[in-house]
Amino acid sequence: MNYPSRLIEDAVNEISRLPGIGKKTALRLALHLLKREEEQTRSLSDAIVNMRTKTTYCVKCHNIADEMYCNICANTKRDRTTICVVVDTRDVLAIESTNQYKGLYHVLGGIISPLEGIGPSDLNIDSLVDRVEKPAEEEGVQEIILALSPTMEGDTTAFYLQKKLKSTGVKMSTIARGVPIGGDLEYADEITLGRSIISRVAYD
Ligand SMILES: [Zn+2]
Repeated sequence: MNYPSRLIEDAVNEISRLPGIGKKTALRLALHLLKREEEQTRSLSDAIVNMRTKTTYCVKCHNIADEMYCNICANTKRDRTTICVVVDTRDVLAIESTNQYKGLYHVLGGIISPLEGIGPSDLNIDSLVDRVEKPAEEEGVQEIILALSPTMEGDTTAFYLQKKLKSTGVKMSTIARGVPIGGDLEYADEITLGRSIISRVAYD
């Protein structure tokens, strides 16, 4: 494409490096920014640079944080006896948006995948064991909930964590796997349906 300005071309090239954004969309965004007040563009670029340079990882759970502890670990109202183990921050956000969980998290930062050369030592596993074995004053972890994807990697990671934490005697559970809400039974694949029968729930 022949751009009327090298500066626009530079901007388009940078914007189109973002995932899911092609050159055409990047050009549309660049021209949109050009029409907006200069101040708005400056706030956008400041927000991006600040996010990139000032965010850090929570020293306790490895979630993204602005300070030493993330908002969840710093919140004294959270139940400190339960830790939900997830792969990354997106999982924390997904579970938080359900409003059903009041405990703390532990972000592994990946999943065990021999094919991709990712082993237990590449993940935040030792710090999870420390949280259970050597609880800080305010913590006394009683339950670990594994919220990992139902894939081979997820199952391998769950198996490893169970083995690693077994000696601590902490109660361990995994999120239920079953038929989606609003879904028809006949359209569920047999593995999902089979799992949902195995992990059936009794009526109170
Ligand atoms: Zn945290």
